[in-house]
Amino acid sequence: MSTLQHTSLAEVEQIYTRLQRTFKDGTTRPIAYRRKQLLQLARMFQENAAAIEQAEYTDLGKPKQEVAIAETSGVIESALFAAEHLEEWSRPEKVQVEEWRSSWDTTVYKTPKGVALIISPWNYPFILTFNPLVGAIAAGCPTVLKPSEVVPTCAALIASLVPKYLDSEAYAVVNGAVTETTALLDKPWGHIFFTGGGKIGKIIATKAAQTLTPVTLELGGKSPVVIDEDCDLQLAARRILYGKTQNSGQLCVSPDHVYVPRHLVADFKEAVKVAYSTFFPSETALHPNSHWGNIVNPSHHSRVKGLLDRTLGEILVGGQVDGAKRIAPTVVTGVKPDDSLMEEEIFGPILPILEVENLDETIKLISNGSSPLVIYAFTNNEETKEKLLNRTTSGSLVFNDTTIQLAVHEMPFGGHGESGYGAYYDKNSFDTFTHKRSSINVPAAAEAMFGARYRPYSEEKYALMTQSIHSKIPEE
Ligand code: NAD
Repeated sequence: MSTLQHTSLAEVEQIYTRLQRTFKDGTTRPIAYRRKQLLQLARMFQENAAAIEQAEYTDLGKPKQEVAIAETSGVIESALFAAEHLEEWSRPEKVQVEEWRSSWDTTVYKTPKGVALIISPWNYPFILTFNPLVGAIAAGCPTVLKPSEVVPTCAALIASLVPKYLDSEAYAVVNGAVTETTALLDKPWGHIFFTGGGKIGKIIATKAAQTLTPVTLELGGKSPVVIDEDCDLQLAARRILYGKTQNSGQLCVSPDHVYVPRHLVADFKEAVKVAYSTFFPSETALHPNSHWGNIVNPSHHSRVKGLLDRTLGEILVGGQVDGAKRIAPTVVTGVKPDDSLMEEEIFGPILPILEVENLDETIKLISNGSSPLVIYAFTNNEETKEKLLNRTTSGSLVFNDTTIQLAVHEMPFGGHGESGYGAYYDKNSFDTFTHKRSSINVPAAAEAMFGARYRPYSEEKYALMTQSIHSKIPEE
């Protein structure tokens, strides 16, 4: 592992001053400037795809396929998409108003919120830093990036690449941990975009409140999977196992646990075994050729292993642990709601299966928690879909697949309740960093309608100005 150079607090000050000056200069406002930076960002990812794969391999042992698909391509595509749609997104909008105000030039301008701060986690260090940045650049916000210190090679690479490709007057990287992030959080920002765990999310929101900085919190949590009577169990098992094995389970939208109706458990277990043996034909997933990544560090490894050691469930497949680096994908059956594996977000390659009587019991168990980032449900039954839609809450609701919502970038992605607030991707990213500034221009001719608002007040003027108080409210 490379040693990561933390940014000095003096440099943090200089960066902040420099970016504030750039924002006030208006440098980042022209569409042509923003477009150029977005194209440069796409170029940065294309020209350094191999270095990015290598850095992720060093820090996480992540297979290059997963880096290329989930991170490099994702950033390139979203930067190019934003460059293409930037002009349309930033266009001022004329607002239709009541006839008597129609000559007032009622316009909403899309203005950048100010200098933005993006704080990202370690599990997908590139896309979770640069996808929000696409929105910030598109909106015209200079931005400080604060990558996670837990993946030092990736964070160091980010710090070396950004100044080579992007305008250093407007975009900068601050590396470090709590001290450096706290120094950043002491300052007011146009917007803070945070991706990480709920515990730190609360710290970020509390600090931001002190400077009245708006915040997006992209958090995690336990995202459940619902198996319904009416579904293809083989397909469900394959798609769940696919989602669970991405980045060795260290994914915010990883299927955390599965609820299976009691009478389907035996068939579902068989389906899981079939999917598992197709994905991992070697004797163990820890075989050197299985393209199986690490748990990020010994402390996370011991946390995940600890959950597994304490479970009262039974291991169906997997269970092997390799030093303090890897844990094989492991499916555990017969897990009860009070099991160790249900205590917290697993964020590792372990998949507990819980037996339930029926959908009502599943919904009750899901609703006992807060709003997960996503609820997955394998069903072809419209009534089940309706029930889940109306009786549960979550950031997203995905039927018949897992993790694929990340690819549907036209839709907003974000949490709800304990899984966070705010959303992004494509235009939603642009909107996140944009202030909708309403503007009107009231012509002198409007004076003809303003008589009643001026002093001296009278009962007649009062009656004229308060018609809504006496108007009839429609019957229900
Ligand atoms: P984390 O909350 O520990 O760290 C995230 C960032 O916060 C890092 O940059 C870190 O340096 C910074 N940080 C840590 N302590 C801080 C403090 N006291 N004050 C200020 N900043 C601090 O998260 P993590 O462990 O890197 O990531 C895992 C979590 O992130 C999981 O819960 C996962 O579900 C969630 N996550 C969510 C999404 C999403 O899109 N919703 C994506 C990825 C990960």
